[in-house]
Amino acid sequence: MSSRAARRQRIGIFGGTFDPVHVGHLVAAIEARQRLALDRVLMVVANDPWQKSGNRTMTPARQRLAVVAAAVEAVDGLEASALEIERGGRSYTADTVAELAAVHGGAELFLVIGADVAAELSTWRRVEELVGAVTLVIVERGGVDGVPDPAGWRVRRLRIPRLEISSSDLRRRLATGRNVDFLVPEAAIRCIRRRGLYASRR
Ligand code: ATP
Ligand code: MG
Repeated sequence: MSSRAARRQRIGIFGGTFDPVHVGHLVAAIEARQRLALDRVLMVVANDPWQKSGNRTMTPARQRLAVVAAAVEAVDGLEASALEIERGGRSYTADTVAELAAVHGGAELFLVIGADVAAELSTWRRVEELVGAVTLVIVERGGVDGVPDPAGWRVRRLRIPRLEISSSDLRRRLATGRNVDFLVPEAAIRCIRRRGLYASRR
């Protein structure tokens, strides 16, 4: 076996609500893939992001997944993952990582999160199961500063061009007919329009 074939697969796990996906997500995922030499980055669409779902109406998970799939279709090494949707119920990253570790035995797993999420890790369920199982990749995020490395984790920091873009802002823009060009990938915009999501106007 060549040394290349023997190398452990390196898989990035980038979870989110992606309601909708935007270029901030894509830049983070692509930079993580390139800088950490990941074979693939899975954009794992949350089925029920339980920490958010009490507060607002979420776009159905299958619709969010379709928009993510459109966004990454032409992007090497990025994949839309239905893992949490197929599992159903509340989405816990601990379950997702356990499942991926079982399916891709021997792979090295990298959990990619924005700095805002890094500050909230202690609120996750069964977070202790993740600490030894993944390397945390903390991506900078516009508007979020000075988040310390969470204690106990293997951490890599990723500086990316700061893009102050959020799905919350995009939902407001789409609902009021404002521009989202160049903030959301073109193929994803087409998918949103086709499906009539976010009360978007043509
Ligand atoms: P919302 O405003 O609804 O919370 P969001 O834009 O924060 O949406 P999420 O689906 O919550 O998107 O985020 C998924 C992941 O992407 C999180 O780890 C988050 O930190 C990261 N992320 C989101 N936007 C950016 C951005 N502009 N730059 C870097 N990382 C980002
Ligand atoms: Mg968010």
